[in-house]
Amino acid sequence: MARARSPGRLASLRPVSFRPQSVRGADGPGEIDYRLARQSVLSEFRKGRIAKHEVCDAHPELVRAAREVGDPTAIDCPVCEKAKVVLVSYVFGPRLPAFGRCITTRRELQAIAKRPGTFSCYVVEVCPSCAWNHLARTFILSPARGKAAAR
Ligand SMILES: [Zn+2]
Repeated sequence: MARARSPGRLASLRPVSFRPQSVRGADGPGEIDYRLARQSVLSEFRKGRIAKHEVCDAHPELVRAAREVGDPTAIDCPVCEKAKVVLVSYVFGPRLPAFGRCITTRRELQAIAKRPGTFSCYVVEVCPSCAWNHLARTFILSPARGKAAAR
């Protein structure tokens, strides 16, 4: 029997650190960058204070999204260095699932930006090879900023 492949399967994503509630204080105007936090995690990993399984813990569904709909980058995975990381985007907001919608095309993001209400976009860096993952950035998607944000 074929496995169900509907987007609804993302509902099985366990609560992850990029849920809006966990970074509510960071929801300011404009774009927030998480490079400092990323560097800090990687530094701790290289010093042996964090185990590989703790930084390479992407949920299987997130790894699947990375393989199937991730935006390619030219950035080597900082952990395994065997693959380039990809970016997976989730949008949270009115009438979207509580666990967010995984964005598969730029057009989809632009369409959501035109809806009434405020939407937050969370971009996660994922290594499809070793499952390293880290929040790359978040930004507010709104009709006013939709064009700029969807670039
Ligand atoms: Zn990797």
